[in-house]
This record gives sequence, structure tokens and C-alpha cells, in this order.
Amino acid sequence: MRPTLLILLKPDVSAPVRAEAVEALRALGLTVAEVPLEGRCLYVVTQGAAVPPDSLLRIPGIQKVVPLEESGAPLVHATHDGGPRTVCLGNAHFGGGSLGVIAGPCTVESGDDLQQTAHAVASAGAAALRGGVFKVRTSPHSFQGGGAAALDLLIAASQETGLPFFTELNDPRQVALLGDRLDGVQIGARHMQNFPLLKEVATLGKPVLLKRHMAADVDEWLLAAEYLLDAGNEQVILCERGVKSVGRHVRSMLDLGAIPYLKRRVGLPIVVDPSHAAGHHDLVPDLARAAVAAGADGLIIEVHPRPEQTRCDALQALLPSEFSKLMGDVRQLAAMSGRTVSGTVRAVRGAVRESAPDSDVSDRNRSVGA
Ligand code: PEP
Ligand code: MN
Repeated sequence: MRPTLLILLKPDVSAPVRAEAVEALRALGLTVAEVPLEGRCLYVVTQGAAVPPDSLLRIPGIQKVVPLEESGAPLVHATHDGGPRTVCLGNAHFGGGSLGVIAGPCTVESGDDLQQTAHAVASAGAAALRGGVFKVRTSPHSFQGGGAAALDLLIAASQETGLPFFTELNDPRQVALLGDRLDGVQIGARHMQNFPLLKEVATLGKPVLLKRHMAADVDEWLLAAEYLLDAGNEQVILCERGVKSVGRHVRSMLDLGAIPYLKRRVGLPIVVDPSHAAGHHDLVPDLARAAVAAGADGLIIEVHPRPEQTRCDALQALLPSEFSKLMGDVRQLAAMSGRTVSGTVRAVRGAVRESAPDSDVSDRNRSVGA
């Protein structure tokens, strides 16, 4: 077992008090190893029982208790042993030298648009499709998603193109009702700490894309992942999508530093969502390239052929042509670091129509959703 706590005794503590402190720790089920330290004693504890570290400060003679970072989320940190892991959904491989790109509309609205988008992103080399059917909107007056009927459209587009799909569940009751019909489950930022949802979703045993809450620090995010692993699902993909910060120049501030930081500590793949971080289509490709350069194991990107007609996140959607160009850049960047982009550029059934001339970048008239 890995050490989980460091405990420092007070200076000049007497031998009997020291012995009683060790006895008290052992009585709590902790395995204790003594390390002499400049006349004081430091104990390395392998935690054998769930004891809040602060409560150990009540034991006479103990001056300081330092939880090691692994102690909060031991299952997540243990994924680092044995090297980076790969989570697979069909031909989409995330991690271990493979990048997976998930693309599609923010929200499933019309079947025609979805089919067109799905064909376009498949042709460009996306390995999986995205599309929200249960939307978590800041306002109750905003479009809440098309529900089960929209899921039918998503499944049809997935079957038509051969792309597996991720969609968000936001209520534990949806798991029993619809879980069997899903390929991969997205946990939205606002539900990162919906622990009953996490536990229920874990039972499906399907890949879970766990978005970071916009106000969560990295440890809180990893603890949310710990819930999934603890419930028996190790197919967890972390998704950085930006955090709240100062300024309105971007929708959220993309925490690129979290990628190399986490790479050194956990084996779970990390995917980046530049769409929700940027909030504007113009900024998405640069953030996407930066994420790949920083070591991301994949991207999730919103794409729509007619963004001006959508009810959700219109401003940040890339046109299919923009997405296709970005995929070329992603392949080049991946190759520069000895990695490959998973999924195959395939000839898909049906015509791949590009965006209509009246929906070009220059004359889009879009409004911000969410
Ligand atoms: C989304 O993916 O459409 C979405 C709502 O993302 P987030 O949960 O990161 O805000
Ligand atoms: Mn969206």
C-alpha cells in the first residue's frame, strides 16, 4: 500500500507520549512506520481506515498531519501505475499515444442537420459523434433538449456513419430508462458533483467523459472520477472545458496547465473541449491546437453546418470546413509528438454537403446559447 499521510510529532515529546500516540494511531486501524527526523519523529502512515486527517490532531503529541495527494483519490492515482491507459469507444481511442476526436452539434435539433454534421465530421476524421439530448441550461426558459426522440436521431446518425456517440445524462433515472441505448456517457460540467448520477452511470460499464465543473479545482475533479472508479467503472476520460475566471473575452478560461500536471499523476486520458472554453468559433482552432500540443488525448468539438439556425451554443460551433482543416492540423501535431489520431477517414454513405453559401463565417449572425 502507498503511504497516505505524514505525521510530525511535536518537538521534545516524551517517550511515553510518543508511544501512546503510535498506539492511538494503530487503534484507529492505521499502519504506522517510524522515520527519525532530526531528533523528532515523523510517521509515514498507510491509511487502513477512513479517518479524517484533521481528527488525528486531537491525539496528544501530534503537531502536524500532511495528507499526501494520493490519499483523497487513491483509485484515480493508482491508474498512474503501469503507464497511461487507453479508453476505447469503437474506433475512438483516447490515451496511450492515441488521440480521439469527438465532434458534432451541441444539441440534437433536426435529424437532417445531424445527419449532415455526422457525415461531415466522419469524413474529416472524427472518431466519435457528440450531441446533447438532455441539456443542462442555465435558464429554465432555454431549450432543454429533445429527450428520447432526439436520442433516436443520434442513434440513427451513429448507425449511418459508423461513429459511436457520446451524449450527456443529467438525471440518475435516465440511466435505467436509456442507458442500454447509449455508447458513451457525458457528465456535464454542472453535474460533475452529482454523486448519485455518477454512481448510477458507473453501473453501465460504458466509457464516461467526465467534464470538470467550471469552479472545481483539480482535486475535486479527481474525486468525482474516484466515485466512478469506486463504483467499478475504470473507463473514465477526464475532460477539461475551462473554468470561471476574470474577464469576458472568453466564455471560460481553459486550464491547459492541468494537462501536463495530470499526466504526471494519473493514467486516465484527458480530453479537451475548446468549444465551451472559447465560446466563439474564431478562437476554437487555436485552443484545440494548444491542447494537443500540451498533451491532450483528444478533443470534443462542436460542429454545425448552419450555426445561425441552432438554439444552443451557436456562436462557438465550427463549420464542417473549419473542422476539417483543424483535423489536418491535429494530425500533424499528433505526429510531431509520436502519436496517432484514432478512427479512420472513411468514405461514408450519403453525400457530404458543405455549409450553404449563406452560412459562411463572414456573414453568420449567431447568438450565444446556454
Ligand atoms: C456541452 O457539452 O454541450 C455542455 C453543456 O458542456 P459543459 O457541461 O462543459 O458546459
Ligand atoms: Mn454546448
